Amino acid sequence: MFNVFDKEIVRDQARYYDSFYLYDERQIVARIEELKSHFPSVRFLYSVKCNPHAKVLRRVFAQGFGADAASAGEVRAALAAGLSGDDIYYSAPGKTEKDIESAIESSVLIADSIGEIERIQAIAARRNIVADIGVRINPSVSFDGGAGASSKFGIDEVEAITLAHTAHFPNIRLAGIHVHLRSQELNADVLSSYYENVLRLARRVQGSLAKPLAFVNMGSGMGIPYAADDKPLDIGKLGEAVQEAVSVFQNEFPSTQIIIETGRYVVGNAGVYATKVTDRKLSCGKSYVILANTLNGFIRPSLSCLVIDRSPDRHLRASEPLFTSESAFQFVALDVAGPIERVDLVGNLCTAADVVATDVLIPRLEVGDVVVMTNAGAYAAVLSPMQFSSHEPPVELVVTLEGEVEK
Ligand SMILES: *Cc1c(COP(=O)(O)O)cnc(C)c1O
Repeated sequence: MFNVFDKEIVRDQARYYDSFYLYDERQIVARIEELKSHFPSVRFLYSVKCNPHAKVLRRVFAQGFGADAASAGEVRAALAAGLSGDDIYYSAPGKTEKDIESAIESSVLIADSIGEIERIQAIAARRNIVADIGVRINPSVSFDGGAGASSKFGIDEVEAITLAHTAHFPNIRLAGIHVHLRSQELNADVLSSYYENVLRLARRVQGSLAKPLAFVNMGSGMGIPYAADDKPLDIGKLGEAVQEAVSVFQNEFPSTQIIIETGRYVVGNAGVYATKVTDRKLSCGKSYVILANTLNGFIRPSLSCLVIDRSPDRHLRASEPLFTSESAFQFVALDVAGPIERVDLVGNLCTAADVVATDVLIPRLEVGDVVVMTNAGAYAAVLSPMQFSSHEPPVELVVTLEGEVEK
């Protein structure tokens, strides 16, 4: 499934559009069904922020996923795509009173600080309701199993446990906890021990509560292959370990739902970005191929070049979701069989920073040829500054389960 796209559909759509995204529902559904089969006791949420296209949302929710919403707007998008409020978990730092007001009766709010709990309490009291909420916790164990660290996300574990023990908010019920520390992990052992640590934390919180937690949301972390030599996450191995840990936990707390969130895992490899060559030139012996709508249409490859260019030692830390790694995207010249040449792929913006890839080996491209970029299903259209320079933005197209193309 990695790096596969429907060439015929891309070829066909390139007759109508100069640059476009293509998300393939057939691949999304295959990925989701595979995931569900390995984690039968886990409830999955889709992280809307990675790709909020309305058709993608509908498809993912139709396969049984709930929503992980990062804003009040994403709560509304999930409602519009057919979910009910019980299936939408709204977790983000710095929610405003307006955000809380708009989502308190149409989602499960995950409070991100003590101040926010107080604001939710005040708003719930004003509405004369009791709100079931979750609390995001900054655990005292790190993702890799070391000591925890300070964070802008959540409430420190020690404080959260004290709060669970002593606090009394008449209009709030603590229904669950949420932890999320990292994205894009490809090592199943690292991930499974992280999830086990979250379940240990859940036991500690549970120790301070009279009633069982309704949910434990263990966050995300499942990575996807980007570079050609990335070893895909062993999802079978991870599923086995997580199922085992969850069944031990649910023997003790049968009514607690265990949740995992994922965005990119289900859509990241299921989308491509296609654009066209607008010009080519030779300057001081160097060949440039100019493409339409690159930094401003699909920013991640260009961001990757910027980061690498400014990291002389190449010991790069991932900065998800803006930057993953060197060579995280493949550039495919569609239907081009010319001789291989070494070129810089650049964009048509009036900035020298609009560089897609340097010194790539690719068949000789001519004006009008189509270049397809892989791994464009997640953090792609949503991250890209399409207003910049007022170019016509790329369209987003969806291949349905029947193989039809829709906007
Ligand atoms: C962004 C985010 C995710 C999704 O991360 P992926 O790497 O796309 O799976 C999940 N949970 C939270 C809380 C997030 O902020």
